[in-house]
Parts: sequence; structure tokens; C-alpha cells
Amino acid sequence: MTNSEAMRGLPAVHRFLSDPQVAAFEALFGRAQVKDAIARVLDNARGSLRDGVPPFGTLRDAVLADLERAQLDALVPVVNGTGVLLHTNLGRAPLAPSAIEAIRDCGEGYSNLEYDVYEGRRGSRYDRAGALLRSVTGAQDALLVNNCAAAVLLILDTFAKGREVVVARSELVEIGGGFRLPDVLERSGARLVEVGATNKVYLHDFERALAPDTALLLRSHTSNYRITGFTHDVAGADLCALGKRAGVPVVEDLGSGSLVDLAEYGLPHERTVQEALSEGMDLIAFSGDKLLGGPQAGIIAGSKPLIARLRANPLLRALRVDKLTLAALVATLRLYAVPERRTEIPFYAMLAATPAQLRERAERYCVSVVGCEIAETSAYVGGGALPEHGIPSIGVALPGDAERVAADLRRGAQPIVSRIENGRALLDLRSILPQQDAQVITALQSIFA
Ligand SMILES: *Cc1c(COP(=O)(O)O)cnc(C)c1O
Repeated sequence: MTNSEAMRGLPAVHRFLSDPQVAAFEALFGRAQVKDAIARVLDNARGSLRDGVPPFGTLRDAVLADLERAQLDALVPVVNGTGVLLHTNLGRAPLAPSAIEAIRDCGEGYSNLEYDVYEGRRGSRYDRAGALLRSVTGAQDALLVNNCAAAVLLILDTFAKGREVVVARSELVEIGGGFRLPDVLERSGARLVEVGATNKVYLHDFERALAPDTALLLRSHTSNYRITGFTHDVAGADLCALGKRAGVPVVEDLGSGSLVDLAEYGLPHERTVQEALSEGMDLIAFSGDKLLGGPQAGIIAGSKPLIARLRANPLLRALRVDKLTLAALVATLRLYAVPERRTEIPFYAMLAATPAQLRERAERYCVSVVGCEIAETSAYVGGGALPEHGIPSIGVALPGDAERVAADLRRGAQPIVSRIENGRALLDLRSILPQQDAQVITALQSIFA
């Protein structure tokens, strides 16, 4: 058979389009995308016609596989079985029910985003979360932007363009996604003045670096690494006192920025927002979707006159927070105002889950799925907090080839992300929301049937 004869043997596009399973994707994606998938599969088949024309069923399955893959390329919910509670690749903090409700309510129709309902005149979106942020953090004033990286950029752009920023060498952090402090400083037009050694920095290092051109003293949370051994750091309060004497604002990039002392959950103490402010930081910046447990956002809190200058920076317009974020953030902050409601924030519910509760859930998995075994594991906070601290947790170790099982879990109708430990695929129950258990068990049953 020559190539051209075989080509005539390839099914026509309309034959695929009239297949009910392919048609179901057309209803989802539209005709153009489905036709693209068919064209890709036919192109592929044309390349290997030497082996004969594949049966229609084989080609149709290839089209369906292509479309299923395309479905997973869009933003879809996944189950997080990794045990990393604030997993940046998996969207960090899941939102509280009241935050979801606020997004729905404000997204469905109009809102008072930039309108003062009481007075009947223009209002400011930046004021919507202001009062709550002031009362929850104790700061004089606060401002919201898109994320913590934007917060740091805005601060540097406002105060340090063409001037010097003094940072301890041990804190020149690079976090995930290419946020590297020295590069952000450079982009904002500030000049970096590094002080101290990699492991030790003293107050006199900062003191000696002060110059007429010093714009800020900057502290940064060493989110994803620890320097251990012989080390020395400068206490926040001492740095703030130096800044006051010299008339130079002291700014801290807290990264995760907890509003709660994690020691309450049996974890090591992590510097809180309130602590940084009470030490006298002029401005602090932190994320909305890390330890706060809310939507992606950057929160700047601190001195009223400095925040007024940030508000006046035209760059703020490009970094401004959208209404859905604002709705979710306000709803999340309200949960902090009432301590008993904190575990409505999924991250805190996950931290509060006891090993006994997790074991009970794991037992349900093991009763329902043949070959599962309960495993003691370590979960992690993630999101640049306590990178070395494992939280005792319980997981379900799955039978079979680990890579194969992990791929089957990822590629199912409801993608599930596992982690591989001791040669087995494992689902850590601390990061799986309890309401997802039934769904995960059903997926496991179909994989191990
Ligand atoms: C996470 C982090 C950031 C960036 O926060 P985003 O909200 O992701 O932009 C900045 N600085 C530090 C120290 C961090 O840990």
C-alpha cells in the first residue's frame, strides 16, 4: 500500500466529531479545540502509515487522551496528598467557607469596591480592609497589593529609588518563582549595601553602613533556609532603635507573616506580625495566602505617614488588589477577630487535626481499598515557614509501582497529587481536606480494582 492510498484510509474529521465521547468534549471546549486535537492525532497517524491505517477506535482513543490532557492544562482543583499544607505549586492556602461565600456574593453582582455606600460618594478600595487589618495587626495603617513580592517592590520604589538599602548578607533570600531579594532591589533602582558575614551580623555592622544616602534598613525572613552553627543576628528591637536614632525607616519582609503564635499548635514559635510591629518596625510586608490562610495578596502594615507615601505612588495602580481577593481577604480576617472561628480557616483546621483523628480517617481508606497501609509520616507547613519542622502526621501508603500509581492518581478525573516515600506512593491525610476523603477513596478503588 502506498502512502497516498493509506491516507485515503484515514477517517474523516466529521467521523470523530459525530462520536458521542468526542462530542462531549466539543460541548466543553468548543469545536475549534476539538478539531485541533483531531488534526494532531491524524498528523501523527500520517507519519506512521507504513504500519497500516490504525482502526478508528484507536485513533478516537488518541483524540480523547489528547483532550483529557488539555483539560488538565486548564486550572482545575486537585487533591493535595503531599503533606505540604501551603504548597505553592498547588495554590497555597485553601479558603475558608466564608471567604468563598464572599467571593460569590461580590462576584455575582456589584459591590461597594470604590464607593462609599453611607455617604453616597466615591470611596477607596484600599479602605475596605483597612480597619480590619488595623485591628487584627495593631498597626497604625495598612495597605493591600497583589502579593508580598509586589509589597516589597512598592516599598523599595517609594523610598529607595537611587538610594541605599542596608541588608544583612545572611538574609539575601531567593524564594520560589524567581523572587530574589538582591535582584528585586536592583530592579527597583535601589543600591544594595550588604553587611555582616554569611553567618554573623551585629548592630555595629548596620551602624557603620549608615550614610546620608541610606533610605532603609531592611530585614527579610529567611523563609526557605536556616543558617545554623555559630551564628549571630541583630534583634528586631535593636535594629528599630538604630533606625529611629538615625531617622531611617526599618522595614521587614516577613514573608509568611503569621497573625497567630504557631506554638499554640505545638510548632516552634514563628515570628508574628504583631511582634514585628511591637518591636518598632516602621513597615512590614507579608503574604495573604501563606500562614494567614487567605487569598493571594500582599499586606503592608505600619506607620501611617509612610503608608500615606505608598498610597501616593502611581505604581500602586499597577499592583492593586482585585475585588474578589479583597472580598476573600476581608472574610478571612474577620475569622481572626473571633478566636473560636479560626479553625474555619482550612490551614488551621489542618494544623489542629490530631494524630488520632487522622488515623481514624486512614483506617477508613484502608478498609475500603485493598492493599493500603497506614503509615506514620511528617507533614510540613510550607509557604516559607518552618522549612525543617516535620509535623507528626498519618498517611496511607499505596501498593504497586510508586511512579505508576502516582501518575494514575494525577491523571484521574479528579487529579490527586501524592508523594513518594520509601518506594511507595503515599497520601498524607493532614493536607487532604476531610470532605475530599470519599472522592479520594473512590478514585483509589477504581485504580486498585
Ligand atoms: C513568600 C515570600 C515572599 C513572596 O510572597 P508572595 O506573596 O508569594 O509574593 C517574599 N518574601 C519572603 C521572605 C517570602 O517568604
